[in-house]
Amino acid sequence: MSEKTLSIIKPDAVAKGVIGQIIDCFASNNLKIAALKMIHMSKREAQGFYAVHSERPFFDSLTDFMSSGPAVVMVLSGENAISKNRELMGATNPAEAAEGTLRKRFATDIEKNAVHGSDAPETAREEIVYFFPELEIVNF
Ligand code: ADP
Ligand code: MG
Repeated sequence: MSEKTLSIIKPDAVAKGVIGQIIDCFASNNLKIAALKMIHMSKREAQGFYAVHSERPFFDSLTDFMSSGPAVVMVLSGENAISKNRELMGATNPAEAAEGTLRKRFATDIEKNAVHGSDAPETAREEIVYFFPELEIVNF
């Protein structure tokens, strides 16, 4: 089933200059880019995006990091896009991420872990509308 998911190339990966390598990985795994933009989130925007984690001890540090520099937000589209993207990303903690995954290749640590991907259809819908109005998303 064709799905859409939200992907973010986080500020650490943008700073490392690996936007192209990450996009290449999506392209070579049949995930198409249905929307894409570079943004620099404010602290408040990062807090809104990660509101589900607001009670976690790492929330303040995480939202500082996410608002520390530019990030690339994308809608990826394709067969099982949500789980496929999660597989390509690897585990949250890069120390536990499988060889060849984006987090294994590019993450710094469990917080600065290079990429975000939605984890389920409902969160994908919510996260996509957080960043993209309907008009900015193409349908293949
Ligand atoms: P994922 O991004 O794999 O879905 P979570 O939803 O659990 O992971 O966490 C959201 C983000 O919060 C992670 O990608 C990471 O940047 C950060 N994070 C998660 N766990 C920790 C932790 N124990 N310490 C610091 N940051 C964390
Ligand atoms: Mg998550």
